[in-house]
Amino acid sequence: MSKEPYSVIHWFRRGLRLHDNAALLEALKPINDGDRFILRPVYIIDPWYKANVKCGQNRTRFLLQSLQDLDNSLRKLGSSLYVARGDPVEVFEKLFTKWEVKKITWEVNTEPYARERDRKVSSVAKMLKVKVTECDGHTLYNLDFLLSKNNGNVPLTQQKFTSLVTSIGHPAKPQKAPECLKKFAPSSEVEKELELPSHDEFYLDESASGKCLFPGGETEALKRLEEKICFENAKWVREFEKPLTSPNSLEPSTTVLSPYVTHGCLSSRTFYWKLFDVYEGAKHSKPPVSLKGQLFWREFFYTVGAHTENFDKMVGNKICRQIPWESNEEKLNAWKNSQTGFPFIDAVMTQLREEGWIHHLARHSVACFLTRGDFWQSWEKGKEVFEEYLLDHDWSLNAGNWMWMSASAFFHHYYRVYSPVAFGKKTDPTGAYIRKYLPQLEKFPNEFIYEPWKAPLSVQKDLGVIIGVDYPKPIVDHGTASKQNITKMKAAFAAASKAKAQNDADFSPPSKKKSKLLE
Ligand code: FAD
Repeated sequence: MSKEPYSVIHWFRRGLRLHDNAALLEALKPINDGDRFILRPVYIIDPWYKANVKCGQNRTRFLLQSLQDLDNSLRKLGSSLYVARGDPVEVFEKLFTKWEVKKITWEVNTEPYARERDRKVSSVAKMLKVKVTECDGHTLYNLDFLLSKNNGNVPLTQQKFTSLVTSIGHPAKPQKAPECLKKFAPSSEVEKELELPSHDEFYLDESASGKCLFPGGETEALKRLEEKICFENAKWVREFEKPLTSPNSLEPSTTVLSPYVTHGCLSSRTFYWKLFDVYEGAKHSKPPVSLKGQLFWREFFYTVGAHTENFDKMVGNKICRQIPWESNEEKLNAWKNSQTGFPFIDAVMTQLREEGWIHHLARHSVACFLTRGDFWQSWEKGKEVFEEYLLDHDWSLNAGNWMWMSASAFFHHYYRVYSPVAFGKKTDPTGAYIRKYLPQLEKFPNEFIYEPWKAPLSVQKDLGVIIGVDYPKPIVDHGTASKQNITKMKAAFAAASKAKAQNDADFSPPSKKKSKLLE
């Protein structure tokens, strides 16, 4: 039995929560019965992310708020968060020795950089005789387990995926947060360099951030979950069908739990089982359109993302169609900065830049517009813009959904194009959403709010807004551009089928290949 108190690190990365945190609970288990040890909850500001991931002001603020909330919650339990700076491998090399660490725990992260980083930290830990324990927690199931249950094949359709998880049964139930951490607290003072980051350190300029509609942190996450997924709201939860929700309502028509799930302020299993409670014994909608179905979409893209090389790129990604997209900075910037001349598209992009969250079907509309619909720009470029502005930016979900919407993978109906005019009108005929996000068009009559360029010049003059001067004319004619793009898509699909047939022939058994040559 060891007498000297050693240290155990729980490394927070995503998973910024105390509830349902299997890796944190694992950290609280002694290596040997009766061991006394110190818990060191650690978060690392890793410069790799600053150099490689675009993170705008709103998400930066969300992360900072989440860390502050986590530290507050830890302090209430008698612990606190140690924030270190630097390459995690170098940071841990020092901390393992300095703190006499014998164990480190963390939550599994299946993204490429995280895997490589964790592999390197594991080898340093091994060298310094520190035990590493990795626990699931970011997804409903272990993603390798899902693959093994599908005979080692990556499920590439949502239908297949839903029947797979349905055959497996419910994910594990969430675990409770620890109740007290006082007995694991160090007696000495915390070092200065391990303090929480300041706004300046994160380059957070409050004046450049938008309104804080969705504050970060586990406390907010659990509050929002209680408000949305509860018995008072049972009818909405049970009848929820994603396609019937509105992309342009002034208040969100879906849960807006995504920023919390992404940062791990909310456990997806806690979300799942809360839904289960509200569904229990009552008629309710089903996947893929139900709220449970939304969690399955997430799990689906995570499963494919974890098992597909170069999942976030077109080149070298075997599930992604190779499409000859154009590269036109002018079009990309017009789309990014709400200058396309299509008010619905420009309003959605304004909401994205200012608030950091947009509805799923709004994401569909602007993603279709940029890629196969109107502008014929690469989905990777759109993905980067979402990466910068979304509060809920997630490596797997962003890439998976962009591939879907650009008909690069998963989705085949490339001839179904969202109209930048008609689609928004269905749920918001008077254009209240456009008026909110594009105030320069506020006074346009309903009949012209989606197509202000059609307003007679006399009307434009009366309103003091000249289209082409005060607000852009449409950069493309939607009818013409979408028809041309459908033709290009058809050719790209044909080329992809041809390449696949060629590939299948090249890799078929020699006898078959020979007989094919003889035919
Ligand atoms: P709800 O409808 O309330 O759904 C509940 C939860 O289910 C969400 O919080 C989310 O975790 C999950 N979910 C819902 N829809 C999807 C979906 N289509 N794919 C995967 N998970 C889903 N979502 C992200 O979280 N991060 C991203 O980076 C992201 N990028 C996207 C890019 C594009 C081009 C598109 C079309 C969609 C993207 N989505 C992304 C998916 C989806 O739009 C958001 O998850 C959803 O709008 C979040 O709002 P909500 O929490 O109100 O969703």
